[in-house]
Amino acid sequence: MNYAFPPAPVVTLDAMSSNPFPVRRIFCIGRNYPAPDGGTAKGEEPIYFIKPASAILQNNSVLPYPPGTSALYPEVEMVVALHKGGRNIPKDRVDYDYVFGYAVGLDMTLRDALDAALENGLPWEKAKAFDHSAPCSAITPEFYSGNIASGLIELKVNGEVRQSGNVADMLWKIPETVHYLSTRVELFPGDLIYTGTPVDAGPVVKGDVLEATVAGLEPLIITIG
Ligand code: MN
Repeated sequence: MNYAFPPAPVVTLDAMSSNPFPVRRIFCIGRNYPAPDGGTAKGEEPIYFIKPASAILQNNSVLPYPPGTSALYPEVEMVVALHKGGRNIPKDRVDYDYVFGYAVGLDMTLRDALDAALENGLPWEKAKAFDHSAPCSAITPEFYSGNIASGLIELKVNGEVRQSGNVADMLWKIPETVHYLSTRVELFPGDLIYTGTPVDAGPVVKGDVLEATVAGLEPLIITIG
């Protein structure tokens, strides 16, 4: 097949002893942990948005400070990687048949652009789907980690804890989230789901070193450049 120009390379994540995992799409769940003031309750349905696969930033990389913002906020999130897709996926099969493994991700957010979008009822893409906005660790296949339903999730900036929570506190659990997404769109192998963040981290600036962890998974370490 000849194309008008070379097609984009496939974005992949390492996956331990497995072959590299080809990333298809990145679904991100919003407002999925209870707020410290009790302000976030489980809604009627999960909130989600999508980042392009090209937004993936590999572990141990420098994230160039994005243009047009002065409020770059990191959100530590557990990432679920799917190796099977479909529509109307049954909740009780998600852990066994659909989840390939887990990773640690950062949903990088331009807080100033997000506040403006929320205030004016505009789309979130400018705030969420910019270049390098989805740092992600290697994937730990589920056959190593087992099913992860609880565990410490944390973000340190320059060694100081900025976010700390437990993945057990997710409002929408992984089987519910995968089922829900599969009722809105057809899911495919290679889809990643960033499952939401526990608390606000505050802004990061050039030179900051971010270490994002979920118990049992390889840490994600990036530097703001
Ligand atoms: Mn998020």
